[in-house]
Amino acid sequence: MKKSVPFTLAQAQQWRETYPTPFYVYDAAGIRKCVQDLYAAFSWNPGFREYFAVKALPNPAILRLLRALGCGADCASMTELTLCEKTGIRDIMFSANEVTTKEYEAAVRAGAIVNFDDITQIAQLEKVCKVPETVCCRYNPGEFQITNDIMGHLYDSKFGMTKQQLFDALKILREKGAKRFGVHAMLASCSLDEVYYPNLSRELFTLALEIREKLGITLSFIDLSGGMGIAYRPEEKPVDIFAVGEGVRRVYDEILTANGVQLALYTEMGRYITGPYGYLVTSVIGEKHIYKDYVGVDATACDLMRPAIYGAYHHITVLGKEDAPPETTVDVVGSLCENNDKFAVDRRLPAVQYGDILAIHDAGAHGHSMGYNYNGKLRCAELLLENGAVRMIRRAEKPADYFATLDIDEAFSPEV
Ligand SMILES: *Cc1c(COP(=O)(O)O)cnc(C)c1O
Repeated sequence: MKKSVPFTLAQAQQWRETYPTPFYVYDAAGIRKCVQDLYAAFSWNPGFREYFAVKALPNPAILRLLRALGCGADCASMTELTLCEKTGIRDIMFSANEVTTKEYEAAVRAGAIVNFDDITQIAQLEKVCKVPETVCCRYNPGEFQITNDIMGHLYDSKFGMTKQQLFDALKILREKGAKRFGVHAMLASCSLDEVYYPNLSRELFTLALEIREKLGITLSFIDLSGGMGIAYRPEEKPVDIFAVGEGVRRVYDEILTANGVQLALYTEMGRYITGPYGYLVTSVIGEKHIYKDYVGVDATACDLMRPAIYGAYHHITVLGKEDAPPETTVDVVGSLCENNDKFAVDRRLPAVQYGDILAIHDAGAHGHSMGYNYNGKLRCAELLLENGAVRMIRRAEKPADYFATLDIDEAFSPEV
């Protein structure tokens, strides 16, 4: 599918006058439609809720937008809990591993559903608070039917409990006063397969029946977590969320309805909700021709690290040259003193010039939030596009922000 950008060169040029590049732009309309379609696809399930994975895009303006659409939030740290508190999100899933007592205290105080990653974490929580009424346990089945013919294994995944531990944990939690129980599993990352959720559901629904039979506990919810992929490449097909919802409904009817069980389904998607609706906008600041041809831009891997660390593909549009033929093969690079600071390698692009503006696609999740300050680079601004206009929802860092955790004017002596 041809990848397009929901703004024009003229708009980006105008924005650049107020907000120097690089900056992120998020398309509110795109996010809204995505969430509305998700809720429509699962409307057959009373109680369905999306707990947006905050780590994907931890901006208060985005969280408010999602809250207004009925989303809760999935958190894994104190600051993520604070973000929920400040943006009025009350429906919180706390899905973290290696949790400190302080974090448990904060999560329980925020009224979050605690999703235990390990059986030993129950005692960890009890050091500071009582077991809450609603709890969840994270399952790691060891191996898992990824697609209809591929079996995946999770023996080296640090997340979740074995089945025996999960049963023991549920028993202990019941003894300690828990009343509503859920089970969670995340067995894929960036899956474009429409059978991923249905297959995961089959695994977890079957487990729910086994839990009812062996422990007499009827689960109140099952959390299918995140892992839903997006079409980073033009040749990939985006997930049809209605087909996914329908696939899960069939498995639900076959396994749960047929056995007289009703429970709510939760998801904790991050990438799927905001990923395709975020663009990193950057200006061309140089070109270089040595053994290969390079286009230099003012963004770096500090703004978007996925290509550098995963070799991830992010589509690039040269604004104003959407229909120009791709005449050149270039590496699009940032200015870090690291040779992996490349947004694209051997990419076919229209010929670019100094000052051209590039939009790097699918940067709306795990983009700005994974940013860092290597080489003294400052984190860039975030803008929200709504009704054709942008509003700044996070300013760019200034040098003073970089120095905020020390005193740059103080003479450091070895004694201090
Ligand atoms: C990262 C994460 C998610 C979101 O993953 P996406 O791939 O962005 O959908 C959801 N739940 C948990 C527990 C996670 O760690």
